[in-house]
Amino acid sequence: MSDVSAGFREVYGTDPEGVWAAPGRVNLIGEHTDYNDGFVMPLALPHTCRAAASPRTDGKLRVHSGDAPGGVVELRVDELAPVAAGGDRGGWAAYPAGVVWVLREEGLLSGAAAGGADLHYESTVPTGAGLSSSAALEVVTATALSDLYGLGLAPQHIAQLCQRAENDFVGVPCGIMDQTASACCTEGHALFLDARDLTQRQVPFDLAAKGLRLLVVDTRVKHELGDGAYANRRAACESAARALGVPALRDVPAERLETALKDLASLGVDDTVRRRVRHVVTENQRVREVIERLDADDTRAIGPVLTAGHASCRDDFEISCPELDLVVESGCAAGALGARMTGGGFGGSAIVLVEVADADAVAKAVTEAFAAAGHRAPRIFPAVPSAGARRL
Ligand code: ADP
Ligand code: MG
Repeated sequence: MSDVSAGFREVYGTDPEGVWAAPGRVNLIGEHTDYNDGFVMPLALPHTCRAAASPRTDGKLRVHSGDAPGGVVELRVDELAPVAAGGDRGGWAAYPAGVVWVLREEGLLSGAAAGGADLHYESTVPTGAGLSSSAALEVVTATALSDLYGLGLAPQHIAQLCQRAENDFVGVPCGIMDQTASACCTEGHALFLDARDLTQRQVPFDLAAKGLRLLVVDTRVKHELGDGAYANRRAACESAARALGVPALRDVPAERLETALKDLASLGVDDTVRRRVRHVVTENQRVREVIERLDADDTRAIGPVLTAGHASCRDDFEISCPELDLVVESGCAAGALGARMTGGGFGGSAIVLVEVADADAVAKAVTEAFAAAGHRAPRIFPAVPSAGARRL
């Protein structure tokens, strides 16, 4: 915390008015369901993006990150324009700039609040590892500005504003999960979120008390297909929902899956799209199963549901990759209770549920499997369910 203040002093020559933090996340279950109006269940990591910040009165927005090259980026609040509309992306600065832009667009910036701000960031969330460093950056910015300007924004509102910043300013078509996780998670819990009506439930997920550990395995690979594939999967889901005459695939209950698949076949919808539908429908069902098992205090029993979720991501949604598959195979072969890829796919991270007593052996087995396959050594650390965005 003090290091972020020291960083701010070094960059701007004064003390910051405050320091805020927002976490990265892993998704326990519910992959590619949020943009189908479905269910997700992320938890916040202890890894955070921290921001030291002060308000300004001259309409300037200055941002600096200890994790990005290029020094201070200076913008004018009244000149911010989305990247797609010809705005200057300014590299990473588009994320915080997008947050200020959306506050302005929503009419939340007036009077003193239109005056700008100085921000300095330091983050322990690995970037591009599927752990939502971008959401952490947006949410810490919105949380800091809400406090600095006295906007009193609620965490879920902050998440929605940040999603709009990423969608409409940066131009990344993400769902609502990442920002909601970073803004709304609480220590010791996973967050159940209904992405349609945004109702939430904090589900107790105290792994240590159960003698369990959730390992994050960052494969440190990011395959290029990722960005195009996301848009492609989204389009397939939306076209299938249209063909079925429902607002979103969320509206196909698991009991109606077989009928829906037959209807799609008779409409000439191809096998690939039908498998995409099967993933989304069964994945929503798996979120419900995980909640049921956690509510029944049977945490170990979520293991097979996680592994089934991975198979669905791999075979039906086709968003896995050899490195992620290898984490799941080698982890489960070494005694893990369950494992799956987490996040958008095509690289990034997987999660592995293990008995504490087996944690080291499983981590070693995964690392050895990576070495034997000629992959770069993965980064492995425990996912301790942590707090969402806050002032430090
Ligand atoms: P993920 O969110 O999974 O980490 P993304 O590609 O969505 O991956 O976001 C990563 C991008 O977010 C980085 O390339 C960078 O532009 C920006 N970013 C995230 N954290 C920081 C940070 N601490 N400082 C500067 N930029 C950051
Ligand atoms: Mg991201």
